[in-house]
Parts: sequence; C-alpha cells; structure tokens
Amino acid sequence: MQDEVCDLTIIGAGPTGLFAAFCGGMRGMRTKVIERLPEAGGQLAVLYPDKYIYDAPGHAKIRAGDLVKELYLQSFTFAEPAYYFDEHVQRLHRRGDDLLLVQTDKREHLTRTVLIAAGIGAFMPKRLNVPGTEEGRPGIHYFVRDLPQFEGREVLVVGGGDTAFDWCLALKDIARKVTLIHRSDRFRAHEASIREVMDSSVEVKTFHEMKRVLGDGNVRGAILYDNRTGQEKDIYLDDLVVAVGFDADLGELRMCGVTMDEHLRQIVVNPRMETNLRGVYAAGDVTELTYLEKTELPESQQVFEGSSLSFPSIKFEERKEKWGLIVMGYAQAAIAVNYAKHEIDPKSRLTPSHSSDPGFRPR
Ligand code: FAD
Repeated sequence: MQDEVCDLTIIGAGPTGLFAAFCGGMRGMRTKVIERLPEAGGQLAVLYPDKYIYDAPGHAKIRAGDLVKELYLQSFTFAEPAYYFDEHVQRLHRRGDDLLLVQTDKREHLTRTVLIAAGIGAFMPKRLNVPGTEEGRPGIHYFVRDLPQFEGREVLVVGGGDTAFDWCLALKDIARKVTLIHRSDRFRAHEASIREVMDSSVEVKTFHEMKRVLGDGNVRGAILYDNRTGQEKDIYLDDLVVAVGFDADLGELRMCGVTMDEHLRQIVVNPRMETNLRGVYAAGDVTELTYLEKTELPESQQVFEGSSLSFPSIKFEERKEKWGLIVMGYAQAAIAVNYAKHEIDPKSRLTPSHSSDPGFRPR
C-alpha cells in the first residue's frame, strides 16, 4: 500500500478524517490517513477523551475516547484504509504527471485526491523549556507509547492535567517509582483521577518545577526546586514524562497553495468541499464554507429602467460560515469523498447508494 498510488489521502485522523476513511472504503477508493499524533481522535483524544458527548448521532451519550474507537473501527467496514501515525504533512503539490504529492517529515505519498481534515492544526506536545528535555533523547518522553519499557524504572511525570494523571495511573503498577511534580497545587485533571493518584503509591510534589535534567546521554536524574522557597533538590530518575499540554498549528499546510481565510486559520471551500486546488478537498473544523447568497435590494434601492416598471436588483453577497461540530465534519467528509470519487472516475455516481443496500458487503 505504501508504494502504491492511492485514490484518496486524508490529512488528519480526527473524527472528520476517520469518517472520511469509512466513506472512502464505501466508495471502493484506496484510502490512506496521515496523522501527526501516534493515535487517532484529534481534539477528542487530546483535549477531552473522558468527557461525554451528547450530540453524536446514534448515541444518547458517549465518551469522546469511545467514539474515537468506534469511528476507527468503522473505517475498516468496507475496506482497509492505511494509517500512517506520527507523520506530519508538510507540503502538497501537483506533479507533472497529474498526481498529487503529499510530503511528510518521513516520506512522500502519491495520490489522486487529497482531503484536508486537519482541524485546528497538528497537535504537538508543548516542550519544557528546561535543559536536557529535548524530544528524542533516551529517557525523555512526550508520549507514553509502550508501557512495558517502564518496568522497574523510576519515572518523573511533569504536569497537572488529565494526561499527567492518566500516565501516573498507567505507570504506577509497572514502574518501580512514580513521582509527579506540578508548579502549583491546582490541578486541571478529573477529580476521580486526582483522588486515585493521591491514594496511590505515586509521590506528588506540588509547587515543584524542574531546573535541569542530569546525565550525559541517558537520563540519570533531575534538579527540582520548590518555586515558593527556591530550595533545590537532586532526585534520581530513569525516565521523564512531560505532560504539560498541547499546541495546535496548521503550520506548513497554510503554505501549500490552498486559499485560506484572512486569519490563516481556515481553508476556504465551496459547498462541494472543494478548495481552490483541483482534487484537493477540505472538511471539518479546518474549513470555512463560502456561499454566494442571493439578496434582493429593498424597494427604495431598486432600479427603474426608463419605464414605470421596477426591476428588483438581484445581488449576490458572499457569506462565510464555520461550524465547529463533529456532525458537520461527518457530513462534509461524505460530500468531499463523493466529489473526490467523481473527480477520479467521472462515470461513477456522484451520490452512492445506501450502505444498507444489499450491494454493500462488510469485510
Ligand atoms: P480535529 O479533531 O482537530 O482533528 C484534526 C487532526 O488532524 C488532529 O489529530 C491533528 O493532529 C491532525 N493534523 C493536523 N495537521 C496535520 C498535519 N499537517 N499532518 C498530519 N496530521 C495533522 N463537538 C461536538 O459536536 N460536540 C461536543 O460535545 C463537543 N465538545 C467539545 C469539547 C471540547 C473541550 C472541544 C475542544 C471541542 C468540542 N467539540 C465538540 C468540537 C469537536 O471536537 C470538533 O468539531 C472536532 O474535533 C473537529 O474534528 P476534525 O476531525 O475536523 O478536527
């Protein structure tokens, strides 16, 4: 799949991208999804995995994290989309042979159409401005990927939100020792998680920050300080887990030639979810829909064309709309994918039949 030209490449595995992957499978398109993070879910996974969503169609209420799991599973109903996690799309352009080239920080992908479902941008963990905490250094973790690697180790977790507390809970029975430091005594995590951590073996140090990491190459320890007294203390540690939040940024996607709004936050699309670039569509939070709305001028401003008859002056006004809702992303994804299918196979139907038709067979 990796070397094959695919029909549809989706940038972003938030709810919009995941549902688009399902739609691509339903239309028989070879589909790829490229996601900057190591996991699917976009805002739902990063910002509110434990919150209940009440306006997800078909679910009276559902945890955001569980909705992501279902969307991911659903994307495999009719085909097997290829997911490329941990890849950051940086450039996009049409080649001389008419294929689109999607350039990431890891490789190049060739595709016939692209759907940008990049939401509010690629999520990147916030860095700690502390010497020795550079990403990629052994023992420094901005994501916890493989729990068994922490077995028997001493781990320091930095942060005061849900991610920091969730990682403490996940690590406490695997690591030899887990310490949590936070710069104040106000946590942003769920009360239940805070209680569980406080009642566990995790050592919690409030009003503590890190001055530097010790050790050349491998992490050996850290210098912590109490930000009320300035008093410093060396601690031993094998691993540092940084969980101080995420930044989201559309970054280089802004420069790939798609027309953006004046704030460079949203991609301008028409009601077919087409961008200004042929074969490139956008859907979900990343879009700003532009309509031409027909308006009639009030009578006082209507034009008289040399007779007693008045002709209403028809005017078109540009109207822009942005919807930050999961359901809008689903609908826009379905529209975009069907137009993308039509773009590469103009003889195909624009609108698919229903997934419930006997012609559709789940894998
Ligand atoms: P996102 O969820 O932002 O996903 C975009 C994905 O694209 C991200 O994973 C990102 O890493 C990836 N990406 C971006 N750029 C690149 C790149 N260059 N390369 C690779 N990957 C990239 N909506 C509701 O309908 N109901 C609710 O109850 C609700 N509650 C909310 C609560 C909170 C706290 C917040 C913050 C939002 C809530 N929303 C809710 C809004 C909803 O989460 C968004 O509308 C939805 O996440 C948009 O989905 P998306 O897939 O378009 O974008």
